[in-house]
Amino acid sequence: MEEPQHSSTQAYVPSDEYRPEPVTKPLLPAWMDGSIRIGIHTSIAGDITSSLEIAHSLCANALQIFSASPRMWSRGPSGSNVADAGAQRFRDRRVELGLGPLVVHGNYLINLASPERVLRVRSIQAFHDELVRAAALGADFLVAHPGCGKGARMSSAIAAIADGLKQAARGVNFNGLRILLENTAGQGTSVGSRFAELQSILDLCPDIPLGVCVDTAHLFAVGHDLCRPAGLEGALKEIEQTVGLERVFVVHVNDSKAAMGSRVDRHEHIGKGKIGVEAFRRILNHPLLAGRAFILETPIDRPGDDRRNVHLLWRLVGITLKRTGNVADGFPVRRSKRKAAKKRGGTTSARRVKAKRHKR
Ligand SMILES: [Zn+2]
Ligand SMILES: [Zn+2]
Repeated sequence: MEEPQHSSTQAYVPSDEYRPEPVTKPLLPAWMDGSIRIGIHTSIAGDITSSLEIAHSLCANALQIFSASPRMWSRGPSGSNVADAGAQRFRDRRVELGLGPLVVHGNYLINLASPERVLRVRSIQAFHDELVRAAALGADFLVAHPGCGKGARMSSAIAAIADGLKQAARGVNFNGLRILLENTAGQGTSVGSRFAELQSILDLCPDIPLGVCVDTAHLFAVGHDLCRPAGLEGALKEIEQTVGLERVFVVHVNDSKAAMGSRVDRHEHIGKGKIGVEAFRRILNHPLLAGRAFILETPIDRPGDDRRNVHLLWRLVGITLKRTGNVADGFPVRRSKRKAAKKRGGTTSARRVKAKRHKR
């Protein structure tokens, strides 16, 4: 019997074949590649995109900025605006430079816990504008100080902050942006010197993308003795038992001019303050803090202070950069340029000069 002929009209239709639904991979930002992230707060003076160039030239691979003047209320209805073209240019350049995470620090005048009605309404509006601007810039995190109750009970201040956050977040397209509440130095009536207070706020706002930013100078000001290994362990334990370490995304790395337990917030260069360089070596290399972005908020007293602080942090994680900090090739690696060139069989300019001299 002849085998039945397959009709040529019954063409193979690929779409008939069963295909499982494509698994959508979670979209992780490019900077979450497991590499160490060290950044610094940089100025947006002149042009916001220049902050990216500054961070890159300092050998930082992450940065923090203000998205507007931090000690002034933005005026008029344009408070939430970042010019579209400017924001696009900023986002494009950031991708080119491989900088991340991008942290925006909120305005200092905002106080969501203010018992004064006018100030509270203004704060909620300004916080909303911060969120809109940060999202427009493609920021990963907006760091905010929780607020000051000015004599109100702690529980009322916490409730006011949570309510203020909900109002400010209304209608915002977060687009991957997360709000980080920062622990405070415990000055005056500020909320958030204890992580239990931050936890209460987080618990009251389950529908808002929230997390925590830990500032080392503030930990110290509150009485965590970071100079000793046990002091750091104690601080980490308090975090773990309250907000949980998994909700810590950024560490503000600052030494302190003020004494331990002073409840005074005065930042100092890494290794030049009361906390000391060994404490920072422990913090940057602590396994429980792996994967966090370490961002400096140190002063610039002399030209080059910013570069020195960034380079010191890299050294503390075992990466030495040249003093000039040329990052034209992208990002610093553990292997020195000279060794890399040797491995490739090439020469660095220094070796070429030497070779030339030998020929003579
Ligand atoms: Zn800070
Ligand atoms: Zn501070």
